[in-house]
Amino acid sequence: MVDCCSAPGLMPFAQALETMLAAISPITEIEKITLSEGLGRILSNDITSPINVPPHNNSAMDGYAFAQSNLLNREFLTLAGRSMAGQPYQGTCGKGECIRIMTGAKMPEGCDTVEMQENCQVEGESVRFLAQRKPGDHVRYAGEDIHKGHVVFAQGRRLSAIDIGVLASLGIDKLQVFRKLNVALIATGDELKSLGQPLGDGDIYESNSYALAGMLKNLNVNVIDFGVIADDDAAIRAAFLQADQQADAVISSGGVSVGDADYTKLVLEQIGEIGFWKIAMKPGKPFAFGKLPNSLFFGLPGNPVSAMVTADLLAMPALTKLQNCHTAPAITLKAKTLTDLRKSPGRMDFQRGVLSYDNDGALMVNSTGSQGSGILTSIASANCYIVLPAEQGRVPAGAIVNVRLFERFYA
Ligand code: AMP
Ligand code: MG
Repeated sequence: MVDCCSAPGLMPFAQALETMLAAISPITEIEKITLSEGLGRILSNDITSPINVPPHNNSAMDGYAFAQSNLLNREFLTLAGRSMAGQPYQGTCGKGECIRIMTGAKMPEGCDTVEMQENCQVEGESVRFLAQRKPGDHVRYAGEDIHKGHVVFAQGRRLSAIDIGVLASLGIDKLQVFRKLNVALIATGDELKSLGQPLGDGDIYESNSYALAGMLKNLNVNVIDFGVIADDDAAIRAAFLQADQQADAVISSGGVSVGDADYTKLVLEQIGEIGFWKIAMKPGKPFAFGKLPNSLFFGLPGNPVSAMVTADLLAMPALTKLQNCHTAPAITLKAKTLTDLRKSPGRMDFQRGVLSYDNDGALMVNSTGSQGSGILTSIASANCYIVLPAEQGRVPAGAIVNVRLFERFYA
């Protein structure tokens, strides 16, 4: 197991992420589900289309279908029949003829063009065409959305609501996906009270596991909540061992620093293989990553902001890899900061900001104010990180900074 503490100084954020991801082997167990169970699941195989979509040439408009060569040098065509969605015209459109057609209806044999009804005058069986058309106008071609045999979605894709619609349009009802992960949550701290309990002197409400459970829901994993465990090495050891029996990954918060009541390190040295990392990031310097006998382990700092940011930027990408899910890199934008940003050189900052447009349509970012690692509202009101490189010092108002939009986990 990698241990950054053997290296002098703090481990750069990018190196910590890369080292951690390299140590994770994705799960391979698959299960069969129906399409309606597919939202948020991860495909275990490529999906090729069994059909053309659309399956036949059809009209993009309500109007009249005809052959362009038929209309040359004449304004009128004779109405010879109708093609409705689901009830195609059975004959062939002949010379001098046109066919009434509705949006989505199959193009009749002998037709290559559709004119919308707003550009036609109809008198009895005679249709007068008021506009010029090119062959193919207002026709949707078979396979123009998806070609039969083409890979529609690759293995490792997390299915979105739109993806489910695409698969339904292919007539696909059964899917193979990777099984769901089981993730255990453990909050540690004598001062933590679960909701519904009275607060004693010096107590606070436990909040990390609630926010983390929400983030894990967005990742579509099963959460096993172990509640609050006291700052006691035997209790922590028992909880970690039980969680390890049930989960693919165990996430704890609190107790990873070097205080008198910080037992996570001690326990993990006894039962697991653990790297205690001091990462050059703010918030979130202390962070533990390692392996228990049967599961991955993430030890988040207790401070709520540090817990959320390390979960978002380190644990979630790690679990995404464990899920066997392939994702695109996060999007970074440049924006003008409206205020000075306090920063000392040393660690990479992930300050919280609100990205919006100024009156000229240029991107600007406003800090959410106090950036203390206990101030959870600094994330609640934000929509992005202001990412400041480690060596950066104070940033004056008006400077251009890198901004990283929040991803799906905080939603
Ligand atoms: P620790 O990392 O255990 O030293 O905790 C650092 C700070 O975070 C302390 O102020 C704790 O009270 C607070 N804290 C730790 N765990 C939680 C939690 N689960 N919910 C809310 N605050 C917490
Ligand atoms: Mg603690």
